[in-house]
Amino acid sequence: MIATIRRIATALLLVAMVQNASAADFTIRNLDAGSTAGLSDTRRVAPIDGNTGTTLGEQRRIALRYAVRIVTSRLVSPVPIRIDARVDSDNPELSCRRNAATLGLGGATNYTANFPGAPQRDVLYPLALANALAGQRLAQGADARLFMNGKLDAGASDCLRGATWYYGLNGTPGNNQIDFVHTAVHELIHGMGFQAIVSLTDTGDRRQGAYPVFRPGQRFPSVFDLYPQDLSMTGQPRFPQLTVARRANALNHAPFVVWSSAITNAATTNFLTAGRQEGRIRLFAPEVVRPASSISHWSPAVEPDQIMEPFESVETSVLNGLGLASCALRDIGWQLADGVHCPDTQTATIVGTARGQYVRAFAEPATPAPRAAERPATESDDDDDGGSSGGCTMAPGQAFDPVWLVLCVLAAGVLMVRRNGQGRV
Ligand SMILES: [Zn+2]
Repeated sequence: MIATIRRIATALLLVAMVQNASAADFTIRNLDAGSTAGLSDTRRVAPIDGNTGTTLGEQRRIALRYAVRIVTSRLVSPVPIRIDARVDSDNPELSCRRNAATLGLGGATNYTANFPGAPQRDVLYPLALANALAGQRLAQGADARLFMNGKLDAGASDCLRGATWYYGLNGTPGNNQIDFVHTAVHELIHGMGFQAIVSLTDTGDRRQGAYPVFRPGQRFPSVFDLYPQDLSMTGQPRFPQLTVARRANALNHAPFVVWSSAITNAATTNFLTAGRQEGRIRLFAPEVVRPASSISHWSPAVEPDQIMEPFESVETSVLNGLGLASCALRDIGWQLADGVHCPDTQTATIVGTARGQYVRAFAEPATPAPRAAERPATESDDDDDGGSSGGCTMAPGQAFDPVWLVLCVLAAGVLMVRRNGQGRV
């Protein structure tokens, strides 16, 4: 009898969980609030293609919020996703030259492991996903950040020959315009965890191929880092199976670095016409390793073009879904909203009911979750095979024991654009 009651209770609990599975809501902290630049630029503009904003700042906010809804409406989370956003003209990482620019920076603000509800032990999850899996907020502050290059709108000839952002919502940028919504979607997908955090460089105390320090003496891969695989090595190892030195070697092994999810590769057999290797989807692994970009994107050889390739392409449009990106997001642990599949060809721009707004500050609970803060360096940081990765340090949490957060400052994905006389490449 007790067993029966337990079964009924379990069934009710499952039903309740299913009914609660709704698209993720969100909050965007406008980091330009209080200024007259970026997302708060007061210059007047004419409405364009579904974007009713009448100042540059308002148009940027509308377009960015639209991009956030495109992504979050495809994901399920009981915890609203928090995003820090700005349009930045001063960030040296957001460069703009005559023929090349970094259009945006996006990434998780933090990672954590071994939290309540973590599917795998000793694996780092980006905060937004960790919150979704735990069913509760695990840290204060933003889960992801989204910085867009504000230099484009200056119209300077030495910045992409005077290119400007297209703030319309119809996915139809004109000549010499770059789709803001499309770029923001790309960056936000990085922020949801489409991002390798293996160290791509070997400078100073950072060793190429190392994962971030989680606790002294312990380095963990992120859940994304579980999937890259090198087909050219004996035994075709996944990256976590390799030593740091061999993993560093594998970072530029195109075309042999692939995404190793058998389910995803099978699902896309009839979707891709190019960019596969031994039936698996290729990752971006150019001969010269590109900081913040290698491994964290699909290969540009993938056809049809995908939104998570490293270079902007006029052939992709978020109006046709997220393509293969949904596959990777599902593989790393996201539950996809109803109607979103792998690959995502859902033509409804907003799939679920993702709601969200701009705030100047996040509302933190009275008993705060642990703050993602830098932990003072200690000697024990250096007790294994190298220093912290990509500017990542870690911070102990207070609400859970032990929750450790890895603060990844530089592990941001970037979307670059290259241009020549003939246009985009
Ligand atoms: Zn990117």
